[in-house]
Amino acid sequence: MDKKRLDYYKKKLQTRREELLNTIARTGQEGREADEDPTVDLADKAANSYTKEFLFGQTHNDRALLQLVDDAIARIRAGTFGMCTQCQAELQQKRLEAVPWTRYCLVCQEKQEQGLL
Ligand SMILES: [Zn+2]
Repeated sequence: MDKKRLDYYKKKLQTRREELLNTIARTGQEGREADEDPTVDLADKAANSYTKEFLFGQTHNDRALLQLVDDAIARIRAGTFGMCTQCQAELQQKRLEAVPWTRYCLVCQEKQEQGLL
């Protein structure tokens, strides 16, 4: 992959990374605030624990994605970005454009989803 394209994906990944970090920080903040609010009664507390669980699930997804984005940035540094980490096939530009942190080509992605990898 030429340097210009690589820079392009690097920027995309770094932007996504910042967004994720912001979201994770903000979600953590909301969870704490829901916890510390002394004016909430019991019914609200139940609703709050639901909210917290939801926020926790959210954070979990965001963190998992952050990990993928970090890995992709590491692959840019290592010079292996744009290749399937499983079979080393070159990834389609279209796929990278949509999901720049993707690790697998379509074939390996399918295998992975079926639990074959
Ligand atoms: Zn592959």
